[in-house]
Amino acid sequence: MSTRKKIIAGNWKMYKTPRESLEFLNAFLPKVHDHERDEIIIFPTATSLSTVIDRVRGTHLRAGAQTMHWLNEGPYTGQTSPNMLTSIGATHVLLGHSERRLYANETYEHVNLKIKAAIAHDLIPVLCLGELLVDRQGGFTRDIIMAQMGAALSNIPTENAKQIVIAYEPVWAIGTGSTASPEIANEVHSIIRSQLEWVFNAEIANNTRILYGGSVKPENSAALLTQPDIDGLLVGGASLDPACFAKIVHTK
Ligand code: PGA
Repeated sequence: MSTRKKIIAGNWKMYKTPRESLEFLNAFLPKVHDHERDEIIIFPTATSLSTVIDRVRGTHLRAGAQTMHWLNEGPYTGQTSPNMLTSIGATHVLLGHSERRLYANETYEHVNLKIKAAIAHDLIPVLCLGELLVDRQGGFTRDIIMAQMGAALSNIPTENAKQIVIAYEPVWAIGTGSTASPEIANEVHSIIRSQLEWVFNAEIANNTRILYGGSVKPENSAALLTQPDIDGLLVGGASLDPACFAKIVHTK
C-alpha cells in the first residue's frame, strides 16, 4: 500500500443551489466529521461555491471550482479567474473535465495555461484525463492519455509538479453506470504514473495522487481503492446524496 493520502472528491456538476448545498452539508458533515484519514473535497457549481466554502470553514473539508480562466481579469463574459477563486477561499480547481472539453471546447492547451495559473495562485489543480469509448475500442487509450498529459503538463517546472492532482476519468464510464474494472483503471493509473516519472522524476511520480472517476458508487469504491495506483475517487452522481457520498468516504 502506498503512503499517499487518499482524496475523495465530489463533482456536483450543474446540480444544487446554495440552499440545497447547505442542506447537503448539514446532513453530510456529521457523518464524516471524524474522518480525517482522507482528504474530502467538494466541487460545487459556481453560484454555490462561496456558500460551501463558508459552511466547511473550520472543518477538514475543502472546496474548489469546476473550471476557471487562466487570466486574472478581462473582457471574458461568463468566466471566473484564479484570484476570484482564491479570494473566496477556494483551494482546488478541476481542469480539463471531459464535459468541459465536450461542451465548452476546453483544449489541453487551455488546460496547460490553467494549470500554470492555478500553480501561480496556490490553487491545487485536479487535471482530468480520459479516453473516449472509440479510443479504447481502437486500442488507443495509452496514446490518448500520453497526448493529453503531454499537452497539459508542457513546460511545468518540476518543483511545481508536486502540487498537481490527476484524475483518470474514462469518458465512456462517466454518468453511464459502466465503471472501468478496478484492474483496467489501475493499468491506466500506472501508465500515468510512469509518464509522470518520465516527464518529471520518480519522486513526483511516487507522490502524485491519481484519482479514478466514472460511475463510482458505494458498491464499487472498495475494489477501486484497494488497487495500488488508485489514490482516491472523483465522484459525480453518487456525491449528490449525503448518505451515499458518506458511504464512499467511509470505504474500508
Ligand atoms: P459520475 O461522474 O460519477 O456521475 O460518472 C464523474 C465525473 O464526471 O467526475
